Amino acid sequence: MMPLRLIIAALLWLAAPSMAAAARPAAFAIAGEMIAPGTRADMSIAVPEGRDGATFIPLTVIHGTQPGKVLAVVAGIHGFEFAPILAAEQLAERIDPARIKGTLIIVRVANVPGFEGRSPNVDPVDRKNLNRVFPGDPQGTQTERIADLIAREVVARCDFLMDVHSGDGAEFLDAFVGAYGGPLATDFPLALAVAQGFGFPNIVRYRMETQAQIDSGRSLNRQGVAMGKPTILVEIGQNGSRDHAHVAAIVNGVESALGVLGMTAPRTRGPAVSARLFEGTTALTARHTGIYHPVSTAPRMLAKGELVGTIRDYAGREVERLIAPVDGYALYGITGPPVTAGDGVVTIAVPVDRF
Ligand SMILES: [Zn+2]
Repeated sequence: MMPLRLIIAALLWLAAPSMAAAARPAAFAIAGEMIAPGTRADMSIAVPEGRDGATFIPLTVIHGTQPGKVLAVVAGIHGFEFAPILAAEQLAERIDPARIKGTLIIVRVANVPGFEGRSPNVDPVDRKNLNRVFPGDPQGTQTERIADLIAREVVARCDFLMDVHSGDGAEFLDAFVGAYGGPLATDFPLALAVAQGFGFPNIVRYRMETQAQIDSGRSLNRQGVAMGKPTILVEIGQNGSRDHAHVAAIVNGVESALGVLGMTAPRTRGPAVSARLFEGTTALTARHTGIYHPVSTAPRMLAKGELVGTIRDYAGREVERLIAPVDGYALYGITGPPVTAGDGVVTIAVPVDRF
């Protein structure tokens, strides 16, 4: 049975148009187009040719019939992470502009060259990682020009940013949502409420304490933090899988978020899912290039000092032993066998009882 609290919330949501004198929102401006209230637009942002070739960013904008928040959901920052890209496709079909308040921006594939090139981590044109070059540069290489347009046309126009990823090619990963908190992030409680709605087994708080944390190799989610947007990072699936359950979990989480953000009626929820909580992560980084032999490719608890894996050179000689630097949970990492000096072989999340 629906709890009374939710029945009241749903009635208030339905009654809101009359209370707000049925205010109709203005057209939504994005990428030089105006989207009328109650309509959707499938469009693309042209990325100019620059010195290394033109591309585009396909997106769908669903603009509601009543004023509300603007949620941006970005898939395909890494073009080999398929579950988010398929979830974006489903969401664009499922969400009806007549039934939402505010605006949903769905970036279907942020990195089309990476997707079409079946390229884990990087854009194959300039070999740059789109998730390390924000805020981008309109005069830069292709990846930097994509980042610049996503920052200006998508992040700048939203009230809440959701950056959706998977374990990439040759990566293992346990599903988690990262919520941005700390003194330099905006509205952690809202980010946490949206994160909890995904029902994933792990939630990480990323505390933003210094500008250097936000600026060094800036990711899309840190671009959200820099622009003052409540932000979450969603991660599910591994090894570039297209598992239907992972796609469905992303769709479910975004639909839950619409309720949390007041864009749809709040959803009836089952009993609260208890997730493991983590305060930040520590990456264990390889110092050698070669052939990686992990002890395990499963997410698991690690003790400080525990062997994580070894690296051999191309003659089969062991050149490095990788040792866990802290106690924590191996949330994601590479499965190998390729490893390059500087790669994070495993990212260890630090458990906490509460935030
Ligand atoms: Zn990714």
